[in-house]
Amino acid sequence: MRTNTNHPPGTQAGALRSSLAGWWHRLTRRLVAAAQSPAIPQALWDATLARHPFLAARDAADVQQLRQLSAQFLGSKQFSGARGLQITDEMALAIAAQACLPVLKLGLHWYDDFSGVVVHPDAMLAPREVHDDAGVVHHYQEELSGEAMTGGPVTLSWRDVQEASIEEGYNVVIHEFVHKLDMRDGQADGCPPMPSRAMAQRWQTEMQPAYRDFKEALSMANRFGGPQPWLDPYAATDPAEFFAVSCEAYFVNRTHFAQEWPALLDLFDAYFLGS
Ligand SMILES: [Zn+2]
Repeated sequence: MRTNTNHPPGTQAGALRSSLAGWWHRLTRRLVAAAQSPAIPQALWDATLARHPFLAARDAADVQQLRQLSAQFLGSKQFSGARGLQITDEMALAIAAQACLPVLKLGLHWYDDFSGVVVHPDAMLAPREVHDDAGVVHHYQEELSGEAMTGGPVTLSWRDVQEASIEEGYNVVIHEFVHKLDMRDGQADGCPPMPSRAMAQRWQTEMQPAYRDFKEALSMANRFGGPQPWLDPYAATDPAEFFAVSCEAYFVNRTHFAQEWPALLDLFDAYFLGS
């Protein structure tokens, strides 16, 4: 999940309306019997890379692999536009390509537990309640820029997708889709299923102190007015959000991430790239 504190409240989500009219949907229907994925038109792919330089920055083999995975993603996922949003080819491919980056080496089968990608035009409002010390229940609405459900769909606010920032290491698509990796073992705890016991131990050994350090740095900055840490403060919510937020930064701004979190860079390379 990703909360959104920067935007004015949107309207309550209405009934979902499918708006599948793009080339990929038509081709998917035509090619499904042949179990093929639709090829992505060159001009559309080039435009997507131009808009997402962190994708274009990968080496040529990775970019080609990403294009193939994106086509498979589009052929296997069901996109729905909420509140009347029409999903264009450009929108679907932008989401697919960014969603496939974390599984470039892991494989698209990591996303086999769901098919739905729901896109809202703006932030979603989720009803919440808290119990105070006196036992009084308070109801409020939380603004979400995205949400991933265990075994269920990924929901995104298109406005927030568009506001991705390489400088700030902010990317809601990557955020929600790495939550899906984390959730594959049934719980979002900041530790996706690991390929080996040794890797699982290394993950705990390195992620837990990194999370503690981040919370402490944030606390010091807030208490004494020092410089804010680079990662979004939302990362301090819990280990699952620390994992998702740090992955955003790792995937979109590797250079800055390497300066801030050299140990996590090695850890994430080992997990995501197998290196
Ligand atoms: Zn989250």
